[in-house]
Amino acid sequence: MRIPLSHLATLASLLALASWLAPIASAAEPAPATPPSPAINPDGWPVHDPARPVPPLATPRPAEALAPASIPPTGAVILFDGTDLSAWQNPAWLVRDGTFEVTPKAGNLITRQSFGSCHLHLEWSAPLPVKGSGQGRGNSGVFLMDRYEIQILDNHDNPTYADGYVGAVYGQHPPLANAVRPPGEWNTYDIFFHAPLFSAEGKLREPAAVTVVLNGVVVQNNAEFYGLSTWKKVAVYSAHPPAAPLRLQDHGDRVRFRNIWVVPTPELPAK
Ligand code: MG
Repeated sequence: MRIPLSHLATLASLLALASWLAPIASAAEPAPATPPSPAINPDGWPVHDPARPVPPLATPRPAEALAPASIPPTGAVILFDGTDLSAWQNPAWLVRDGTFEVTPKAGNLITRQSFGSCHLHLEWSAPLPVKGSGQGRGNSGVFLMDRYEIQILDNHDNPTYADGYVGAVYGQHPPLANAVRPPGEWNTYDIFFHAPLFSAEGKLREPAAVTVVLNGVVVQNNAEFYGLSTWKKVAVYSAHPPAAPLRLQDHGDRVRFRNIWVVPTPELPAK
């Protein structure tokens, strides 16, 4: 069959149009469900990047092995010994059976006393029955100096973005390992915190740093905070007093706590 020349010209135009449209079509493909944040941390990773490798699993040490070190040492400030919430400014959470539990929407729990550098010991347990997924499962957190969050999350068979895992310096440093116990079991945190130092003019002289041991496994090793904990943003510093309360987060999940104490530690001189 002979095709008239005019028809061939039309066919060529259509092919040209199709090749021009192809890149537009691929550019219009649906975006990933959780696009990476445009905020980039100083280590080069986008904040809450879902593509960042998640921490490897680690076996928690047996609870019996950790029990002796859970007894508060001389000089410790007891924040909860199983009886009441008198060490806290707003004791709105439920105390029962030697534990207390987040009461959703009752707000965060904040200590009466302020602390700077310290060793904080606390034990917590993610709720049963299991509910939700990702950041919506057994989420709480401990904010050192009311500002610097170490994440509490039920990461047992529950992946999320790496810098939001249990033991993360939230939004900044993923934990070195995932050493969480299953929900309903008790996890032990020992947190060794260096408060940041600011000049009289409010300029940062030394960043805050933290070592975190979860169930006997080191999950942060002297990690430096980029700034105050935040969400979907790069953290920055804002000068604050040398001591501030501890805060436990009400993230809407009934996380339980027990045996909380703090040993204040000397501030290091600026380098
Ligand atoms: Mg949290």
